[in-house]
Amino acid sequence: MMETTESAVPIKELPPKEQWRAILGELELQLPRPTFETWLKPTEGLRSDDRNFVVEVPTPFYVEWLERRIYQTIQRTVERLMGAPLEVSFQVRPDALAPAPTGPEDDAWLQGLQVAPIPHAPQSTRYNFKTFVVGPSNSLAYNASRAVVDSMGMAYNPLFIYSGVGLGKTHLLNAIADACFWKGYTVIYLTCEQFTNEFIGAIRNGTTEDFRDRYRQAHALLIDDVQFLGGKDQTQEAFFHIFNELHGSRRQIVLTSDRPPKSLGLLEDRLRSRFEGGLTVDIQIPDLETRMAILDFKARDLEIFMDDRLLEMIAKRVQHNVRELEGVLTRLVAYVKWQNPGVLGAGVTREVAARVLDDLAATSPRDQVDPQRIIQEVARHFRVTLPELLGKGRTKKVALARQVAMYLLHTDLEMAMSATDVGRLLGGRDHSTVIHGAGKISAEINEDSRLRQDVLTIKEAIFSVPNPAT
Ligand code: ADP
Ligand code: MG
Repeated sequence: MMETTESAVPIKELPPKEQWRAILGELELQLPRPTFETWLKPTEGLRSDDRNFVVEVPTPFYVEWLERRIYQTIQRTVERLMGAPLEVSFQVRPDALAPAPTGPEDDAWLQGLQVAPIPHAPQSTRYNFKTFVVGPSNSLAYNASRAVVDSMGMAYNPLFIYSGVGLGKTHLLNAIADACFWKGYTVIYLTCEQFTNEFIGAIRNGTTEDFRDRYRQAHALLIDDVQFLGGKDQTQEAFFHIFNELHGSRRQIVLTSDRPPKSLGLLEDRLRSRFEGGLTVDIQIPDLETRMAILDFKARDLEIFMDDRLLEMIAKRVQHNVRELEGVLTRLVAYVKWQNPGVLGAGVTREVAARVLDDLAATSPRDQVDPQRIIQEVARHFRVTLPELLGKGRTKKVALARQVAMYLLHTDLEMAMSATDVGRLLGGRDHSTVIHGAGKISAEINEDSRLRQDVLTIKEAIFSVPNPAT
């Protein structure tokens, strides 16, 4: 996070470069992260006087985008921080005015594939409603999100969206932010982590009033991944107050989380019941048709063509979430571009796809999961001890945990241990018990969203890499 300027020196007396940094610090709080990263981070304060504030940007395209999309927000923030009605303008960095090298897009992109991650396409234009493929698994969340933008603060407030990883929560939240901008609303968009950091900073600097003021000025407050609020008393308290104030004045609030409000482990009951007071929707794992539609959409976007059989083949193999699906596509594209340098709109052959999928399966973390880890995560999730899980007890909670473990080990994960092995691992149970238990969960998981969520959360824990923020 960008540092805000020491309050001891009035911002007006700083050099323009530093003034702009302070302004960026404020803008970062108000804008969707991808917007900020893409469009504001590469800018610099050039000069300011008592009428003007000039900002240097990398290319002419920036001028157009900033003026069209977020000029109001910038202007307001500059005026507020500088304490004067300044006119903000943008100036293109001189070296950028030289003619652009030919064929920049395709080349840069190809190089990007070979040596480094694909350069950041402006995600703000990617994460919007138009690029969100709607199907039965997500139509509830999609429609609710649209309704929120259409009648800010009046339709569903708060809107609470939850799902497992990689199913489109952040995408939808960005889409809401994006649509709000077009309508001229002031939006604060941030992750729960950013919110917490801000708040802690405000306490440290004795500026909690400013902190709250800033939120009071927003039409909408969008917070991603609120599960990280759990367990932080003071932050919850601050959030509760801000929530109440905004909610009371009919400002729109949208929250996302990896689990439903009930399972958030919030210390504050009243906070949870506030969350539940609006509309809560979940996003489920997309069905085969939707996975195919998403794949098709993203492939076209990358100018890669695949026929239905190929789409189906991939979508059948990659079932867990959309991010995974994108991962496969990225690899495929890299492969195809590498095989056909310079060819636009290359097709993917079945052989190439099969090969990429096999590579993927071979390196998939799924194969390397330690069964003990799965058992531990299940026990932790259901709050039962290992001896209970492996023992003879049959209370509802313990029995459910045991069956979920059977399901994960025997059915769901690609490691697919034999029922006999699973039985042995789970306290010496008979293989028919395992088949029965795993089958029961398989049957119920599609009907019971709570159970589905339990399984998703456990899988996330199992596959989570050290950095849980993404
Ligand atoms: P989450 O926040 O739930 O973990 P994201 O919103 O980050 O998931 O989604 C992961 C990736 O999948 C993103 O690149 C997003 O654009 C894409 N994605 C998810 N759902 C859809 C959808 N329905 N249509 C198009 N892209 C999607
Ligand atoms: Mg997310």
